[in-house]
Order: sequence, then structure tokens, then C-alpha cells
Amino acid sequence: MLKGKTALVTGSTSGIGLGIAKAFAQQGANIVLNGFGDAEGPRSQVAALGVQVEYHGADMSKPDQIEDMMKFAASKFGRVDILVNNAGIQYVANVEDFPAERWDAIIAINLTSAFHTTRLAVPAMRQANWGRIVNIASAHGLVASAQKSAYVASKHGIVGFTKSVALETARTGVTCNAICPGWVLTPLVQKQIDDRAAREGISVSQAQEELLGEKQPSLQFTTVDQLGGLAVFLCSPAADQVRGVAWQMDGGWTAQ
Ligand code: NAD
Repeated sequence: MLKGKTALVTGSTSGIGLGIAKAFAQQGANIVLNGFGDAEGPRSQVAALGVQVEYHGADMSKPDQIEDMMKFAASKFGRVDILVNNAGIQYVANVEDFPAERWDAIIAINLTSAFHTTRLAVPAMRQANWGRIVNIASAHGLVASAQKSAYVASKHGIVGFTKSVALETARTGVTCNAICPGWVLTPLVQKQIDDRAAREGISVSQAQEELLGEKQPSLQFTTVDQLGGLAVFLCSPAADQVRGVAWQMDGGWTAQ
């Protein structure tokens, strides 16, 4: 379904971003990967699906590096047809103890980077009269939790940003939507489970049960494959009039 398209997924060396990149590759899209850590493993996993893969290691907190990544993608593939703003980080502390540099980093990576990638991707999408922008927000884009002020602010921010961009592009073939996952068992969440187990002196599996029990009524993690399926749907013709939504995939978290 996506043969001939190019998808750039930020933060795609791990977790949800890598899952979405693979889901797009399964539909035939060429992929630009981004993110920290080992890039060769993710690159070969995507290449094994028979598409072209490029990697750019831009730091999403640095606008000049983001600009370089967008130029790189255009030079390799002509343009970015599908942009997934996924890179994200977390930090957990009460607001009075929240290090100012952690606040700045979370806002820069989880929110401001999407402004830069989007402003740089939209002109070519408008010209082609086709484009898809998929922002990976969170259940925390719709409701809050304590000790996550920066993350919740960034994710509420990206839901608002999604709506504005959707309105600006409403009369074109470019759509902009957000996906709001609940708990997904990735390194970002594994760290929170491990911290909880250590803090409360309980086992990792008990900590996992507590984490799900507190927020996610299904008591099951959302999977990266499920999120990949939703991202592919948002790129399909059936989603042409899905614009500016914040689509939960959270096991009922935000229905409460
Ligand atoms: P993850 O830690 O597995 O992956 C994060 C990715 O972002 C990695 O590839 C990492 O290298 C990259 N990254 C981090 N900082 C970066 C930077 N400065 N520049 C470039 N890349 C950077 O996390 P994940 O759980 O897959 O999270 C992906 C997105 O999904 C995040 O935006 C997160 O907020 C969101 N999300 C996750 C969950 C969950 O339960 N895991 C739930 C809701 C939303």
C-alpha cells in the first residue's frame, strides 16, 4: 500500500518507533531511521523487509541537526511523504524537585522537534498534495499523572500542535493526527518498572502488575505491532478524512 513512499520516523532505533518503521516497510515504504544507540541492528531488521533504508543520527533537541536530517532524507529519496514524530524521553519527579535542564530536554525532544520536522516537511507534502504526519503523543496527552509535569505538558502540547497543523492542511491531501498509547513495554517503560521495583522492594513482575493495574483497565500492554497497524491505517485512503484526532490505544486508560 505504501510502495514508492518514504517514511521518516524519529526515535526509531528502539521501541515504538522501530515497530512503526517496520510496519511501514511491510507495506513497501522506504524508511529513514533516526535515534541513538545501535543503528545497524534496526537498519538490518528493516532492510530485511525488502525496502531501502537510510539512517541519520540527528539529536532531536538540536534544530540544526533536525534541519540536516530533513535535507538528508530529501537528498536520498526526493521528499518525506510520511513523517512520524516519535522520539521521546521521560523523567519522573515532583515539580519542585524537577531539574530545569530535564524540563528543557523533554519539551525540546517530545514537542519542539515535531515543530521543526513538520515545518520542514510540509512544503513538499503540499506540493505533492499528499502527506501524512503522525505524532506519537500518549494517554498523557489527554490526562495527567503526578510527577510527570514536563512529559504531560509536552504530550498535551503535541496534541494541540496536531490539531493546528490538521486545520492548516485541511484542504489538501496532507493529514496530521496523533496516536495516544497507554503503557507499551519498551525500554522507556521498563526503566519505570525497574525503578518502582527497587523503590518499593518488590519483584519486577509485581511492579509491572501494579503499573498496569493503576492505569490500564485491560491489564495488558499495548504492543508496538498494534501501534504500527494504527499508523498504517492513518496512511491509508480510508483515513483521508481523519484529521486532527488524538487516537487512544490505551486499554481503556482514558475512558475512566
Ligand atoms: P524508547 O526509549 O524505546 O525509544 C525512544 C527512541 O527515541 C529511541 O530510538 C531513542 O534513541 C530516541 N531518542 C531519544 N532521545 C533522542 C534524541 N534527543 N534525538 C533523537 N532520538 C532520540 O521509547 P518508546 O517507549 O518507544 O517511546 C517512543 C515514543 O512513544 C515517545 O514519544 C514516548 O513518549 C511515546 N509513548 C511511549 C509509551 C510507552 O508506554 N512506552 C506510551 C505512550 C507514549
